[in-house]
Amino acid sequence: MRVLITGGAGFIGVHLANELYRRGHYVRVLDDLSAGDPERLQTGITFSRGDVRDVPKLWSLLQGVDVVYHLAARVSVPASLLYPREYNDVNVGGTVALLEACRDVGIRRMVLTSSAPIYGNQTTEIVNEEMPPRPAVPYAVSKLAAEQYMFNIGMHSGFETVALRIFNAYGPGQPLPPSHAPVIPQFMQQVLGRGSVVVFGDGRQIRDFVFVDDVVQALVSAADAPHVDRQIINVGSGQGATINELIGVIEKVAGRSANVLHNTERPSGLSRLVADLEKAKQLLGYQPQTELFAGLQRLMDEDPIFQHLRPVTDA
Ligand code: NAD
Repeated sequence: MRVLITGGAGFIGVHLANELYRRGHYVRVLDDLSAGDPERLQTGITFSRGDVRDVPKLWSLLQGVDVVYHLAARVSVPASLLYPREYNDVNVGGTVALLEACRDVGIRRMVLTSSAPIYGNQTTEIVNEEMPPRPAVPYAVSKLAAEQYMFNIGMHSGFETVALRIFNAYGPGQPLPPSHAPVIPQFMQQVLGRGSVVVFGDGRQIRDFVFVDDVVQALVSAADAPHVDRQIINVGSGQGATINELIGVIEKVAGRSANVLHNTERPSGLSRLVADLEKAKQLLGYQPQTELFAGLQRLMDEDPIFQHLRPVTDA
């Protein structure tokens, strides 16, 4: 298989590119490096620096490609509230530009990394793909628009399309940008570094934390699985954990107790969001392998950010 991964130097992109390469596929990566790090890509993967909205560049990168994984995006919920135009330009405009280029060159399938916040607040904790989208922030609106453009243009242009709605992914290599650090590496760093863990709200909001290898497993299957054309498929762990429970597991893994501060002035986001995995199991043969404790253990052991913070154990 010949594959192009946009955003392939980012957190999920590097894990996906390296796994596809390990399986013997030809892998090209396009990334503007607004957030990614191409040094983590294995030698043998072809890297091009550039913007996903650059259609002439895409024409040349798409030559001979069967499957396009579209990951390039702006990914911060709070930043999307500050800069909605940028989120629209990159996440929607970038997707449409890529779709036009795919239509012009001809590919077999596009796989989009879509996002759980599209669901917004639902009446049940566990959400399935039939539920009506209720995006509450510009980031979620941009991912929903990207899904719809992809299904529509793919259908008119004769290539297959599938959107994986990923829940809260975590694992080694996840960046920690000061402006929008994801909750798991941020809390891990604070607990290991004996800082304060600041929780927005009461910490009872429920999330579905999914280890990056499980996300990659679903993405790899999505390239070849039959019967996925124009489907939306959840990818999570299927297990809900409150933020308070998450801190408890981090404390166990780190062997240290957390100094938790609750900031009740700041909203805590959606109250609950957990993936129904039935469709992923049926269509992708998906089965998450890594539970939260084991995933956090691997994060602490394998991520260089945490290596110098790890507690020293007596031999
Ligand atoms: P990331 O920020 O690490 O990766 C995104 C990559 O896209 C970065 O390397 C960045 O440099 C690149 N990029 C951004 N704008 C670009 C542009 N205009 N042209 C080319 N490259 C550009 O984020 P991630 O966590 O790896 O997310 C990857 C994808 O998965 C995104 O589409 C995101 O919306 C989706 N997703 C992630 C999660 C999660 O929990 N990490 C959950 C749901 C969905």
